[in-house]
Amino acid sequence: MSEVFVVVEHAGGAVKKVTLEMLTLARGLGAPSTVVFGAPGAAAALTDKLGEYGAEKVYVAESDDIDGHLVAPKAQILARLIGEKQPAAVLLGSSQEGKEIAGRVAVKLDNGLLADVSALDADGTATQVVFAGGTIVKSKVTRGLPLVTVRSNSLTPSPAAASPAVETVDTTVDDSAKLVKVTERKAEQKSSRPELTEASIVVSGGRGVGSADNFKMIEEFADLLGAAVGASRAATDGGMYPHQFQVGQTGKTVSPQLYIAIGISGAIQHRAGMQTSKTIVAVNKDAEAPIFELSDYGVVGDLNKVIPQAIEEVRKRK
Ligand SMILES: Cc1cc2nc3c(=O)[nH]c(=O)nc-3n(C[C@H](O)[C@H](O)[C@H](O)COP(=O)(O)OP(=O)(O)OC[C@H]3O[C@@H](n4cnc5c(N)ncnc54)[C@H](O)[C@@H]3O)c2cc1C
Repeated sequence: MSEVFVVVEHAGGAVKKVTLEMLTLARGLGAPSTVVFGAPGAAAALTDKLGEYGAEKVYVAESDDIDGHLVAPKAQILARLIGEKQPAAVLLGSSQEGKEIAGRVAVKLDNGLLADVSALDADGTATQVVFAGGTIVKSKVTRGLPLVTVRSNSLTPSPAAASPAVETVDTTVDDSAKLVKVTERKAEQKSSRPELTEASIVVSGGRGVGSADNFKMIEEFADLLGAAVGASRAATDGGMYPHQFQVGQTGKTVSPQLYIAIGISGAIQHRAGMQTSKTIVAVNKDAEAPIFELSDYGVVGDLNKVIPQAIEEVRKRK
């Protein structure tokens, strides 16, 4: 069976969920081979988890150059590895970094590239949800191998144990890959909540929430459900919640199992970031609000009454 490359996304010594999703996808296409980039020693902590999800091989690309520069060394090494091993397909996460590496590799190999793919068939046909979620496109790379970036939360990762062989990769890069140097790293302030784009449940608040203070109620509800908190642009622009949590066309794209929209009207730009959620619940005092058109369940009512009641009900069940 041909190898299918999965470029591993990891942080803080842990494999990110999108990598497990890609491994699950790759198993349907061929033999999953993961490619780990990082500082010397980075891969050791990840191998067991990758094996749990079916990685048959772990290509280890570790060096100070990879750690000390932005994506250029990774793109150069990956392009070379693809040339050597000729995998059947290459999957990267649709993160900023994944897309940038994929773009550079596509140029280097003169290969087609499909971004934000949510499914990939064995014959290389990719599914993409485009135009603010209004259209589903089926497409195929016609020049080179299927080089795709995979949207997170597109499928549920399932384990399938394998014992991966570990192979060290040549990490030599030329000076052109070292033009931008990392001079400092600052850890992002992390909350105990799940990461917005990876969460199974997202509770989002909009302008209807009314104030930053009232967003505490949204946070409380989210914490009870083990959910991430999101917000509409009206809420972030209005200073009610930080911009990094904005969901939508100019914010983050989420696709959780459950999306709860509270005091959000459902503008097309907001829908673009959440409408592939599996189940959508909306709370809005206006029965005509467009959000109800795409909701599976809707509550017409004042969120200041509905959410405290919902909090109480969830608490009772804990
Ligand atoms: C180029 C561009 C990009 C954009 N990108 C984004 C984006 O990424 N994400 C995004 O979200 N928006 C984006 N927008 C903005 C978008 O068009 C909307 O303006 C925005 O989504 C509206 O946010 P909202 O639903 O919170 O506010 P509103 O549209 O004002 O809706 C508030 C809702 O709350 C309800 N409500 C009010 N009080 C209560 C209450 N007490 N109880 C229950 N319900 C209540 C109201 O009935 C209303 O439906 C973009 C716009 C442009 C032009």
